[in-house]
Amino acid sequence: MAEQTETAPGAQRFIPPGADTLDELRAAAGGCRGCELYRDASQTVFGRGDERARVVFVGEQPGDMEDQKGLPFVGPAGRLLRRAVDDAGLDPGHIYLTNAVKHFRFELRGKRRIHQTPDRVHITACRPWLVAEFARLHPEIVVVLGATAAKALLGPNFRVTRQRGELLPWPASAQHPEDFQRVPVDSAGKVADTPPAQLLATIHPSAVLRADDQDKAYEGLVADLTVAASALA
Ligand code: SF4
Repeated sequence: MAEQTETAPGAQRFIPPGADTLDELRAAAGGCRGCELYRDASQTVFGRGDERARVVFVGEQPGDMEDQKGLPFVGPAGRLLRRAVDDAGLDPGHIYLTNAVKHFRFELRGKRRIHQTPDRVHITACRPWLVAEFARLHPEIVVVLGATAAKALLGPNFRVTRQRGELLPWPASAQHPEDFQRVPVDSAGKVADTPPAQLLATIHPSAVLRADDQDKAYEGLVADLTVAASALA
């Protein structure tokens, strides 16, 4: 099991300054040692999907299956999310999926690896990868899945339970909007000609799997994602 640390060097030093594409970032993230989570996990699980995605989903961290396969959202929660994306009417071909923390944090109980929520130190250490991904993405909607992703993007005071399903301006609603400003495409400061972006927070699909009333929790997730789908139309 990974020991908890109070501080971590962070991912910034592992991000090549000249990395222009998500593929280059993904390759570099494979060698990240920005916090101790790399030690026990199998591999870095970077984001995946369409670089021109209209919707970017940000979750918490890879789970057991994601850690083994090296791909985000391929376990039970990922399957549920894909069903919810379909039911909400979002086009699965136009999404990008990533996590706030790119290594699996777990506790070993016998032979079982039990998910542990990342601490603030891990979220902070890994945040440069998220910022770097966003610098190469131009979503119209950012969907924040659960409290860890909300902490990474919106800060510690944001409460998903209170503000889920609300469309907020992006990146103005971020805790540090300057990290997510669109990169000007010319020396006059003109930004890419894309529609203004919005952010919507909802529960993580794993919370649906843990809920006492899974049907109700699933309906709530789909209702929130339907708001995102309507905003795109
Ligand atoms: S969790 Fe993030 S910061 Fe920590 S080692 Fe993995 S990629 Fe690097």
